[in-house]
Amino acid sequence: MRCPFCHAQDTRVVDSRLASEGDQVRRRRECAECGERFTTYESAELVMPRVVKRDGTRVLFDDMRLRTGLMRALEKRPVATPDVEAALARIRQRIQALGEGEVAASQIGEWVMEELRELDQVAYVRFASVYRSFQDVSAFREVIEGLEHPAGMSGDSGAS
Ligand SMILES: [Zn+2]
Repeated sequence: MRCPFCHAQDTRVVDSRLASEGDQVRRRRECAECGERFTTYESAELVMPRVVKRDGTRVLFDDMRLRTGLMRALEKRPVATPDVEAALARIRQRIQALGEGEVAASQIGEWVMEELRELDQVAYVRFASVYRSFQDVSAFREVIEGLEHPAGMSGDSGAS
């Protein structure tokens, strides 16, 4: 890190300790050129990207909205809460792992569908039917075919 006083490249860490209940690392640095000391703080960046909607508008990532969407699909389904929380955590993680300032709403939707497909197939179809709004039969078929074990779905595979 450059020295903020003389802009020399060569600074060294003379002390390093946890700050802010362990969420931050506080470092004292010393410039090898001018001898000035300064402090830096390091913390994990947990800023969620903005969400780009279909119409191109940008909105702040809304965790409640993500949760509500998932819960609505899982209503009255036999899925344990810790499994739902784990799914939500994985989706958040994937969004953060992008490391971009923006994420497409459609990308989040795809990840939600991936999680629901694992959790509960009825919830998956529910979510997909709303999310993809099933404009035609082939879209519906695509979702059903995405299921690994379409048991319980009275699927007319329509071989005609
Ligand atoms: Zn300096």
